[in-house]
Amino acid sequence: MSDHYETLGLSRDASQEEIRRAYRKLARKYHPDVNPGEEAADRFKQISHAFQVLSDPDKRRNYDSTGNENGNAGFGGFGQGSGGFGFADIFETFMGAAGGQRGPASRTRRGQDAQIRAQISLKDAVFGAETTLQVDTAVTCEACNGSCCEPGTSPETCSTCHGQGMIQRPVRSVLGTIMTTEACPGCQGMGTTLPSPCHECHGQGRVRARKPLTIKVPAGVDTGTRIHLAGRGEAGPGGGPHGDLYVEIVVAPDATFAREGDNLSTTVTVPMAAAALGTTVTLDTLDGPQTVTLAEGTQPGHVEVLKGLGVGRLRGVGRGDLRVNVLVATPTDLTSEQRELMERLAELRGEEVVHGAKHQKSMFARIRENLKNL
Ligand SMILES: [Zn+2]
Ligand SMILES: [Zn+2]
Repeated sequence: MSDHYETLGLSRDASQEEIRRAYRKLARKYHPDVNPGEEAADRFKQISHAFQVLSDPDKRRNYDSTGNENGNAGFGGFGQGSGGFGFADIFETFMGAAGGQRGPASRTRRGQDAQIRAQISLKDAVFGAETTLQVDTAVTCEACNGSCCEPGTSPETCSTCHGQGMIQRPVRSVLGTIMTTEACPGCQGMGTTLPSPCHECHGQGRVRARKPLTIKVPAGVDTGTRIHLAGRGEAGPGGGPHGDLYVEIVVAPDATFAREGDNLSTTVTVPMAAAALGTTVTLDTLDGPQTVTLAEGTQPGHVEVLKGLGVGRLRGVGRGDLRVNVLVATPTDLTSEQRELMERLAELRGEEVVHGAKHQKSMFARIRENLKNL
């Protein structure tokens, strides 16, 4: 093994700064990226190795005194001729390698999963529906059928990395200068380059497109429900398989019906006289017209339950209920004739204002009776 000082062209009392400067100058000259060929590669290895030793004060002291570099190396036993188990290997074992990747990456990959929103009506959520959405996605390029190449051409082995997809590069670290493996910049780690990339997809094998997608929305979905469609996401690069598509449901608010789980609710407002006398109302429900009979003396706040006219159950069978909340309209803008009639009615009925709940009324009435009897 040659002398490390000679390798870097330095005297034995060179400063750390001189060592670094000498290394940078030589590394730029012999780096495999700028100087291909085996001779330069060997030289580069020697330079890097010399720098690893001399830039580390402990290793340098040890080397100066013994001519041996394994004494305090920490990761003893590295170096040229030590059975191919180099510093980069140790470093990669230690640091988890350069992204954990070895060898060329495939140009063909699975497409990404995608998520879109679909707004549907309450009626579609109640009964389920088929709906067609316009989806912005990636589709396999038709011009090259995903091959990424112009017709009649094919990928070529990358000249920078010779198809490895990886290059080695020296980097400075706390462990000294080490060789690190990284994706080849010439081919982005693919190991191959495209002599004539497809003009349609620019060598991606896929293009952006807007396409219609018809989905089946099951009954019972609600805002936030996600429908998973396997293989309906983006086409992968290089003719790769499609990712998955997730459709997130948004149920549009309805002017007439509100939803509470599997139940629907609505309101119906009846005139005071109709509430008192009892009446029949026809409601325009999601299932069509439904006749509801309100009994004599229906009070405001009464809830009429229409069984099975709610939302279809997403998991399970049957449907929830439709709850009809009854409101009673108090007449306003009375004519003098109507006012007289109302007064007459109140008089006939002996109507009085009650403060508090009904049981309190009876309690006060009882107290009054008791007082009278005294
Ligand atoms: Zn193409
Ligand atoms: Zn390459």
